[in-house]
Order: sequence, then C-alpha cells, then structure tokens
Amino acid sequence: MSMDLQKAVTEKYQKEIGACTNEELYYALLAMTKDMAKEKESNEGKRKLYYISAEFLIGKLLSNNLINLGIYEDVKALLAENGKSLAEVEEVEPEPSLGNGGLGRLAACFLDSIASLGLNGDGVGLNYHYGLFKQVFDKNLQRETPNPWIEKESWLTKTDVTYPISFGGFTLQSRMYDIDVIGYENRTTKLHLFDVETVDETLSGDGIDFDKEDIPRRLTLFLYPDDSDDAGRILRVYQQYFMVSNGARLIIDETLARGGDLHKLYEYAAVQINDTHPSMVIPELIRLLMERGILMDEAIEIVSKTCAYTNHTILAEALEKWPMHFLEKAVPQLLPIIYELNSRVARKYDDPSVAIIDGEKRVHMAHMDIHYGYSVNGVAYLHTEILKNSELNHFYKIYPEKFNNKTNGITFRRWLLHCNHELAELIESLIGDGFKKDAKELEKLGALVNDEAVLQRLLDVKTAKKAELKEYLAKTQGITLDENSVFDIQIKRLHEYKRQQMNALYVIHKYFEIKAGKKPARPITVMFGAKAAPAYVIAKDIIHLILCLQEVISKDPEVAPYLKVVMVENYNVTLAEKLIPAADIHEQISLASKEASGTSNMKFMLNGAVAIGTMDGANVEMHQFVGDDNIYIFGESSEQVIERYEKADYVSREYYEKDADIKRAVDFIISDELMAVGCRENLERLYRELLNKDWFMTLPDFKDYAATKERIYADYEDRMAWAKKMLVNISQSGFFSSDRTIEQYNKDIWHL
Ligand SMILES: *Cc1c(COP(=O)(O)O)cnc(C)c1O
Repeated sequence: MSMDLQKAVTEKYQKEIGACTNEELYYALLAMTKDMAKEKESNEGKRKLYYISAEFLIGKLLSNNLINLGIYEDVKALLAENGKSLAEVEEVEPEPSLGNGGLGRLAACFLDSIASLGLNGDGVGLNYHYGLFKQVFDKNLQRETPNPWIEKESWLTKTDVTYPISFGGFTLQSRMYDIDVIGYENRTTKLHLFDVETVDETLSGDGIDFDKEDIPRRLTLFLYPDDSDDAGRILRVYQQYFMVSNGARLIIDETLARGGDLHKLYEYAAVQINDTHPSMVIPELIRLLMERGILMDEAIEIVSKTCAYTNHTILAEALEKWPMHFLEKAVPQLLPIIYELNSRVARKYDDPSVAIIDGEKRVHMAHMDIHYGYSVNGVAYLHTEILKNSELNHFYKIYPEKFNNKTNGITFRRWLLHCNHELAELIESLIGDGFKKDAKELEKLGALVNDEAVLQRLLDVKTAKKAELKEYLAKTQGITLDENSVFDIQIKRLHEYKRQQMNALYVIHKYFEIKAGKKPARPITVMFGAKAAPAYVIAKDIIHLILCLQEVISKDPEVAPYLKVVMVENYNVTLAEKLIPAADIHEQISLASKEASGTSNMKFMLNGAVAIGTMDGANVEMHQFVGDDNIYIFGESSEQVIERYEKADYVSREYYEKDADIKRAVDFIISDELMAVGCRENLERLYRELLNKDWFMTLPDFKDYAATKERIYADYEDRMAWAKKMLVNISQSGFFSSDRTIEQYNKDIWHL
C-alpha cells in the first residue's frame, strides 16, 4: 500500500505540500487516511463481536492511524522535506469527546487491539456532539463549558443505516456514523456511533445547560447529562435505549445479511456489555426476536447465550438501578419483557439480593445482566475476587461458571509508540522491534538492568520528555515547570475513592515541613489533572482546594523554590499522552478495594515511571510482576477496608485528634491563607466532610502514605538505582497490553 499525500493535497487544494497551512495538511491527511483505511476493511469470520459502550475515549486519531498504517515515518519525513512539521499538524485535530475516564479509554484500547489482532468485532455507541464538558478554571473553581468537536470534515463517515426508534409516545429516526478503527498492520474495523436525525447543536449561553426534556433535539448532545434531577436521569434512560435498540437492530440485520439464522444468533454474534449502561440490550434483543416470530422462551434462551457483561465497579452509587416509572415513561415496550425476566428469577430464587426488580420498584441492571448473560467478568484479579467473594457472592453461588477475570490492558501503540517515540526507539535499539507486536518481548530488557550505559540513556529519554512537557504546558496553559524537579503525577477523574484529597493533604504537610526548615533534596512538582462530575459537590471542592494550594504555595517565597503544585486544565487523552512519558512518580492511591483496575497505572509503568500505590486494582498484579523494590506499596489492605465498612466503626475525627500532623494538615484547609484565595463555603464543606465522614478513609492511611513519599523521594536521588526501577517496570509491563486482554476475552468469552 502506498501513501500519496501530494495527490490528496492536489485533489483538495490544488497546491504543493509546502504551500499548505497546517489546517489544510490535516484535512488532506484525514482524507488520505480514510481512503487507505477503506482498503483494509474486512468482515471475515462467522461470529462477530459487538462491543457496546456508552463511552469510547478514543483520543486524537491522526498519528495513531498513521502508525497503524505503517506510514508515520514516511509522512513525517515528507512533511519535513517540505518545511512542515507533523507534530504541528497534529495540533490541529480536535480530540473527540466521546468518553469520560478509564472505562471509555478501555473501550478505545480494546477496539485498537481487536483490529490489530485481526478479530471480527465492532464498537457500538452514541455520537455525542459535546460529549463530556470542557473544564475551565475560574477563581480557583471548575467551570463546565461545552466541548464541540465534530467538524464538517472529521473521522466520522455518514452511513445509509437508519432506524426508527420508538419511545413512549414518539418515534425518532436514527442515523449511523462510522469511525474507522485501523489495526496495527492489520484490518480495519468500525466504531458505529448512532445519532438522532433531529439533533440540534445550538446552545444558549456558554455553560452546559439545556432543555433535558427536548429529547428529539437534545438526546445526543452530552455524555452523562447532569443527573442531579429526574429529567437528567431519565434522559440517560432515553440515551441508553437509543444506543442499544440501534445496536440490536444492527446485529440482527448484519446476521441476516450474512445468511445467519436468528434461532442461532449466538453463533453469529457476541455482545459485550461494557458496564451497565447498555444492559437494556438484553430485553431489547428479546423483544426484536419476538417481533420476528420467535417465542419468548426461545428468545430469552438465544439472548442469554449471546450477551456477556463486564463489571467495572463495586461502588453502590455506580451500579445503575432505574426506577420502574422511568422505564414506563421512556420505554414502555420493554416492561413486559423485564417483568417476565424478573418473575422467572423470582420463581427460582427467593433471595431478594439477586432480584431484578427490588422492593422499591427499581430495576437492577447488573442483576439482569448476570442472570441473562453467559459471562460476568471483573477487570483485575483483586476486583474479580471481591465480586465473587463479597459484592456479587450470592450470584457467584448460583452461577460460579459464569464468573471470570479479565485484567485490563492498554494499547502499546498509543501509549508507547505514539506518545513516546524516544523510548520506543531506545527499546528497539536494545532488543529489536519484536516488542511492537508482542509486548512480552519487553522482558528482554530485564537482562540490561545493571548496564549503566543503558540506564543513563533511559534517564536521558525521561529528561527529554520532561523538557517537552515543560514546553508544551508553557505554550498551552501558561504553566512554568522546573524540569530538574521530581515530577510526581496524579491524573484521573476526580473521585473521593481515588483520594486526590490525600495527595493534597500531603502537599500541605510538606509545605509545613519546608517552612520548618526540612527542605527536600530536590524540588518537587506535584501535578494533578482531573475533571469532577458537574453535580459532584465534594469532588469540585477538592479541585478548589488543589487550585488554592497551587496559588498559596506559588506565592510563598519560603516554600515555592522547593514545592510546586500544578493542576492542568481540562485533563484529557491528549494531555495524558504528554504527561505520562514525563512522569517520575505516579500516584495510584485509591482506597483499597475501590479501584476496580485502573489503567493509567499501566500507561505510566510502560513509560518508566514508578508507582506509589495501595494494594488495589491492577496495582496488585503490577506488584507481583516488579516486586517490592520497584513499586511503593502502602496503606490498609482491601480485607481491612472491607472489614471497616462491615463494622461501620470508622470515626475520622479520632485520627484527626490523636495525630498532630493530620490535624495540622486538615486545619489548613480552613486557614486564613487558603481563605484569602478561596471560597469559605467550599473549603469549610470539605473540612467538615473529612472531619465528620471521610467515607473513603483518607486519614487512616495518611501517615503511612507520608512516610512512603519520603522514602520514594529519597530513593529518587540514587539516580542509577532509580533508573533500574524504571527499567524493571518497563520490562515487566508486557502483561498489561490490551492485546493480551483481548486474546483472553476471545479465548474465554467470545470464541470468534
Ligand atoms: C487512562 C485514562 C484514564 C484512566 O485513568 P485511571 O487512573 O486508571 O483512572 C482517565 N482519563 C484519561 C484521559 C486516560 O487516558
């Protein structure tokens, strides 16, 4: 396959490459890439996977697509010959706003691996026009603004596929748009995104408010519309049904088009339900099969052999339970089926903890998935064990054979080849390029961990990436960094269970220590990146605290030379790709048992950063691979935490009262210094929360956390010993490739 950028440029603009603007080059490359992707389309294979997800956090696509087509270097060289820079052209691309955090990013990594392994599988989701909001900081507070990303020319391709989708009282016409998923030196599959034909993007004002009851025009504007009221919550039901009804119709149509037999749908299709947002695909598929003349008993049986469910969380508030009256209003046609599914379960099991409809007339979506799906998987070893032994134990006793673990992974194309060319080149020069197709080959680096010349080159790459981040943040966000400081980074959605507040308390602790004369061996830069859900009050208060600390510390001449807090604005995939290669230390400090897996931990590991973390999620497996010397583990175990919740005897105030360091740090939240730059209401609310509730148990782990931080900063000063830790982490990261994860899904669940 050959690439002909000049031809694409001539066709579009009748110009030479050198005479084009970066915008023109981007659109020409976009058109050229889409043409090349088309040549690799293939639908081969009897059984096809449909990965249905409310989110696909795919990130910018140009560079990744060029890499996967094998033409990245050629394009880069051709542009350079003409005085142009591919990096600058990349800047033109808007980041698609189709996801929120780890769950959506996982779905994106999975699509890349499915295509790269040459499997027959497509993604199914929604075409959000604004997606998640764009975060701006204003007076040290998060403000949400719309994030439009769909341009006239984009990666979306309009298709002829359209369906009438009926809701209670009205019908909307849908339209399918496709984004090519180009495998690494392999076939092209598709991400199918459904939209309503009547969508209207115009918003009034610069916020993200809109009429949540205007379904025909507003259905696909935002991902997770504010759900603090019923109108927002019911809008999610409309969105979810719209997604799965379109998906189900597509599955049936494609099966029939391949000459498939709907009585054996499971031989032609596997449906992976990514978290509970697509759960209504189960009753909807049953309904559509019945419309085609299949009797209910058989339809239920067929669908139960077709659908598989992935659980992503044990947080009760994240397990969806829809009030019956929402479904009655939005999707009345599903009610008879859901009632039937519920009564079949009720006849067999009188245990209310496995019921589909509970005593408050709410439908437990996960319960429906488990009873009527053929597989239930957790996303890391520990998480699956907790599901089996506590959270979903009643189900595990009924269906032990359905439960399985699939430890998450990340695509090494984006998270190494694309975001860290320098490191990829270094690795290739040491062990050849086999690791690009088989991540396990990174283990060969293990033979080099005592080679000082290699370790020095690794440190040099890190220094270069830190300098690059410094330049990028200066240019895009007006942030100044000291590249000789330690970069200690925590980037992830803001949630109390992820405990950014503990990191912030440590910053306060360090601030006092420095004031008392205990200066660190080298300056420390603590970086955060996080969006808080618009209606999540305490999460927004934590952002406020971090931004206030950033201001207070930067203005304190005693402390500023040694400690800097940086909160980047609008954390997204593009920023992750810049921050992760530059990290020395990464924070994976969730309350043990609460982070199902985490995937940023894997990205950092691959890029030679060292983790400080709790025994939670995939950290447990990372620890197994690298050993005590190469990851800094602290804090209570998941067993201890689960026991604390069972006993319900945790009193945060006791920790505050008995420890002077904790008291000093917590009190600083409402100090005059912070009040001078912050809002009393927010800071006092956060202070009271920590003192009276602290549901995610920050204080019991704080002392161990602070001591471990001191140890990690001290160890960082032995540069060769540190570089060895970096190399061990890289060499052991192969297991966390999403290619491995997808091979396991295929072998154990999909059988494509
Ligand atoms: C990987 C990634 C996440 C997930 O991060 P966790 O720390 O695992 O929660 C969230 N957002 C973005 C932009 C990512 O790239």
